[in-house]
Amino acid sequence: MIPAAFDYVAPASVEDALAALAEHGDDAKIIAGGQSLLPVLRMRLNAPEMIIDLGRIESLRGVRDDGDAIVIGAMTPHAVVGSDPLVAEHASLITKAVEHLADAQIRHRGTFGGALAHADPAGDLGAPALVLGAEFVIQGAGGTRRVAADDFFVDLFETAIGEDEILTEVRIPKHTGWGAHYEKFVRVAHQWPIVAVAATVRVDGGAIAEARVGLTNMGSTPLRARGVEEALVGQPATEDAVRAAAARSTEGTNPPSDLNGDADYRRHLATVVTRRAVLAAAGG
Ligand SMILES: Cc1cc2nc3c(=O)[nH]c(=O)nc-3n(C[C@H](O)[C@H](O)[C@H](O)COP(=O)(O)OP(=O)(O)OC[C@H]3O[C@@H](n4cnc5c(N)ncnc54)[C@H](O)[C@@H]3O)c2cc1C
Repeated sequence: MIPAAFDYVAPASVEDALAALAEHGDDAKIIAGGQSLLPVLRMRLNAPEMIIDLGRIESLRGVRDDGDAIVIGAMTPHAVVGSDPLVAEHASLITKAVEHLADAQIRHRGTFGGALAHADPAGDLGAPALVLGAEFVIQGAGGTRRVAADDFFVDLFETAIGEDEILTEVRIPKHTGWGAHYEKFVRVAHQWPIVAVAATVRVDGGAIAEARVGLTNMGSTPLRARGVEEALVGQPATEDAVRAAAARSTEGTNPPSDLNGDADYRRHLATVVTRRAVLAAAGG
């Protein structure tokens, strides 16, 4: 289908984009890579009168080192994030997640910030951002604020970004030297995950010293598998120990039922995919 008619602006600065948002209020919508918004417009699930394109704002692109964190600009395309050496060195969980996100065309158009702002519960970046303790930098007319990942994902397709605000960058605390793996369960290549698990672990002297595990598509937002994390600490990274810990991956989850599988199937998958993700992250 063809979207309803809309006006279009492409401001050159965040300030101008914020001014356009303030002027048009509920009638405006931001567009980043358009990979999620355009299908929504074409299906006429939304019909904004004004589209504000962030594509000309150079300050929103790129990856930089900022001491204890790496900072990813909201408009940085997935393909750039996925091949960035800083990301690979200090947050390799993100590199692994981007590798299997959609197909090459979408990875070249879609943006890191757009995917996180869209907050699809099946999106591949939410769980990695959550487990790495990302901070979201959000700018509005009143200034800039930082929101912790724990508070960023509010509900299905809902984040802490206000209607008059823009996500400008995402700060990822460095996890240099941690093992990481993103295990995505799909029926066919390039599909959204039925269930996926983001795992990053620090192994010390043959045992798991620290573990962070997150679940994709096991609720209306990405979830931390805190029971699994607790159970892993102090354990050797053996098949048996990890299998026992992974049994706790369904705690606190509320998976959907759809044509790809019902909630019970997803609960079963979560235990299997968690075991695979943790063992791979630990180098097993
Ligand atoms: C066929 C297909 C398959 C896909 N498969 C996957 C997959 O397997 N895994 C996966 O994770 N994703 C997948 N995607 C989605 C892809 O990752 C998109 O790139 C992403 O969801 C949206 O990013 P975007 O830059 O295109 O944002 P847009 O589509 O431009 O925007 C998405 C939403 O976020 C808002 N927004 C965007 N940027 C900002 C900002 N800086 N501040 C505030 N609000 C903002 C927009 O207003 C809009 O509501 C797929 C998409 C398609 C079309």
